[in-house]
Amino acid sequence: MLIVMRHGATDAEIQRVVAVIEELGYKASRMPGAQRTAVGLVGNDGRVDASRLEALPGVQEIIHVSKPYKQVSREWKSENTVVRLPGGVAVGGTDVVAIAGPCSVESERQILEAARQVREAGAVILRGGAWKPRTSPYAFQGLGRPGLQLLAKAREETGLLICTEAMDPEGVGYVAEVADIIQIGARNMQNFSLLKAAGRVKKPVLLKRGMSATIEELLLSAEYLLAEGNHDVILCERGIRGFDAATRNVFDLTAIPVVHKLSHLPIIADPSHGTGLRDKVIPMARAAVAAGADGIIVEVHPHPDQALSDGAQSLFPDQFTQLMREVRVIAEVIGRRVAEPASVGA
Ligand code: PEP
Ligand code: MN
Repeated sequence: MLIVMRHGATDAEIQRVVAVIEELGYKASRMPGAQRTAVGLVGNDGRVDASRLEALPGVQEIIHVSKPYKQVSREWKSENTVVRLPGGVAVGGTDVVAIAGPCSVESERQILEAARQVREAGAVILRGGAWKPRTSPYAFQGLGRPGLQLLAKAREETGLLICTEAMDPEGVGYVAEVADIIQIGARNMQNFSLLKAAGRVKKPVLLKRGMSATIEELLLSAEYLLAEGNHDVILCERGIRGFDAATRNVFDLTAIPVVHKLSHLPIIADPSHGTGLRDKVIPMARAAVAAGADGIIVEVHPHPDQALSDGAQSLFPDQFTQLMREVRVIAEVIGRRVAEPASVGA
């Protein structure tokens, strides 16, 4: 439930609303906005007596949030959330942000080479897993903490920000210390203790859609992060399981406008896991930007044929350079621009 205050409501009036909400046994969250101040009532079980709040001085109206997710919904907050990162990088505003790099951090040489290549092409954030959620226990599991240090080194050398995955609550602590964005992978979208841990740290989270998750489930998982106090959440469409083996996943392009309608949170697209096939990544990345994605996350490897994970869907650096040229043009057509390393912060 959202209690919208009149324009010019006094601090004392807002404070009174907060006090009554707490007296009723719920949590209140103040939401100062450009147009109006609102107070959100969290923990609404549908039996709140709104009349008591409605009658308070300074209250303009009560909005009942109809969706099961609350703070994540557009009803709760109509303006887009812009997730602000160091160096002036912003996800969810006018800029379309490119995150690129290998699936896994494999060695110092590999990650530094990849970082230089994707920066040269125009990415502003480097991706690369230090902990890898692999289907087989015999597959490469990632370098762990040394991998994080290599990412930090790549940031130092290139100025790129870092996005990397945390697989468990303990990992959230390690990743939050080093990374600029904590990634929560598809397989962990409904790992609720992980979500709660990530909700308690002060670092933006990239939450990927589970491979069998509905959009509503994705938004409910994001609600866990906001409910714990972390409002810097970027959603990611990365494809869902289908019946057709022609592609690794079914890349759900429609999820982008659907999420934009239902939620104020930014959503980016991952055409690499979405398709699983190098030559399909490029057309789907173009399509995602055209569909309004706030960014793309693309796997790029200096030598995809030698990659320890996801080589078949990793772009060669030259292909990524060409893709970036194309998405710049597409972004401009829809009134956006691709964030450039040089223009960041300008
Ligand atoms: C990844 O980004 O390398 C990854 C494992 O992605 P997902 O969780 O979407 O499968
Ligand atoms: Mn991968």
